[in-house]
Amino acid sequence: MNARRNTVVSLELAEKLFCRSRGFCYWIIMTRLVNRIVTIGLVVLLAACATTPTAKVNNTSKTFSTVVVDAGHGGKDSGAYRRYGPPEKAVALDVAQRLDRKLRESQLKTVMTRSSDVFIPLNDRVAIENAQRNAIFVSIHFNDSRRRGIKGFETYYRSGPSFDLANRIQAKLMTIPNSANGGVHTANFRVLRLASCPAVLVECGYLSNRSEGNKTRDWEYRELLADRIAEAIVEQRFGAGVYRASTQVAAQSPPQEPASGDTGSATGATRR
Ligand SMILES: [Zn+2]
Repeated sequence: MNARRNTVVSLELAEKLFCRSRGFCYWIIMTRLVNRIVTIGLVVLLAACATTPTAKVNNTSKTFSTVVVDAGHGGKDSGAYRRYGPPEKAVALDVAQRLDRKLRESQLKTVMTRSSDVFIPLNDRVAIENAQRNAIFVSIHFNDSRRRGIKGFETYYRSGPSFDLANRIQAKLMTIPNSANGGVHTANFRVLRLASCPAVLVECGYLSNRSEGNKTRDWEYRELLADRIAEAIVEQRFGAGVYRASTQVAAQSPPQEPASGDTGSATGATRR
């Protein structure tokens, strides 16, 4: 108690001593004012920086009539590569085509960013995505890691209106038996950041993982992936219980196996 009183007294004394000079007091007040203005300015600047890189997003997450289906990579960009089995660009296209068919069967209009093994620059994909009215964007990828043990589905989004869709797709993928949950995350991928509609990117498992990589070679498994993603999209638009699954026996153009003697090195991979 005494110590506290002593502190108060000494502070008052110090103030009296300093404030003998009016100029010094004025200087203290000005310094405080400047500090406050600088702090407010920084907060405003930070808030502005956080919002500028994102495109303005139309919230069509419950009204959309079109789904832009984006098969990741293509052409010179193989994406994640495996020594055995088709590269990411091939399996992503196969799942995307299956998804495309299922969505059209569910009375949704679709636009594919690519329907063959061609290279499409990311900016062109963004242009296709943003040219659609009343749409959502779904990008199909497979993952890769140097750590062979890592596995699981991951779904990425950027804008608030994309959050529901991302969660729904992840939850539906998790109904596949023995699946691992890599979670729903935000990411600054260009196709998400510059999208003017709700947009998600689905990583349908790790090609680098023995179990997930092997499953992906099986067309029935790829059909299952497409089916779960389609169900999530249809439920997002029309509500639960509306989706009717259909199975296609084989793909029109099965994913190509790499040429024999291939070293398995990635060539010109552009991530997302
Ligand atoms: Zn990819």
